[in-house]
Amino acid sequence: MGLSATQLASVAAQSEISGAGDRRICICGHGARSHSSQALSDNPTHKSFRESGRDQCLPGRMECPCGGFRGVVEVEDPRVFIFRTRGPMGQHALVRGLAASLVRGKTVSEVDWACDTCGATHAVTPVAVSRSGQIAFEPSRDNRLLCADCRIGLGA
Ligand SMILES: [Zn+2]
Ligand SMILES: [Zn+2]
Ligand SMILES: [Zn+2]
Repeated sequence: MGLSATQLASVAAQSEISGAGDRRICICGHGARSHSSQALSDNPTHKSFRESGRDQCLPGRMECPCGGFRGVVEVEDPRVFIFRTRGPMGQHALVRGLAASLVRGKTVSEVDWACDTCGATHAVTPVAVSRSGQIAFEPSRDNRLLCADCRIGLGA
């Protein structure tokens, strides 16, 4: 081994700076790096974001209609976050990614979300909302953190 621990630490720090270590996850359930607004500046999707001003979320081979990056949690391994939303709570891509992280022994930051509508901090989960303002059972542009009472207000 020709590399000292100090050299390895400096290599690790550089990859951190270059963005390889971005651990933020968006409310849509996908990593910061999947969003063109948060992609590295030499990434073609970031160029298209600079030109159009429109954020695009492309996790894996999926296209997500996310309306714009909003980091709501930090995780050890963002690569786990490639699910598709099929409904609220446990069916939402964000919760499915968090669950998959725990199953794989990957840590996630403490989640202390407040409801986007009323500010309550109890039983808050991500919910995809359709254009008509109902709970969506597919990926949506509009994702919100909602408490149980405010979910009922949307028909959940
Ligand atoms: Zn997003
Ligand atoms: Zn997304
Ligand atoms: Zn609420």
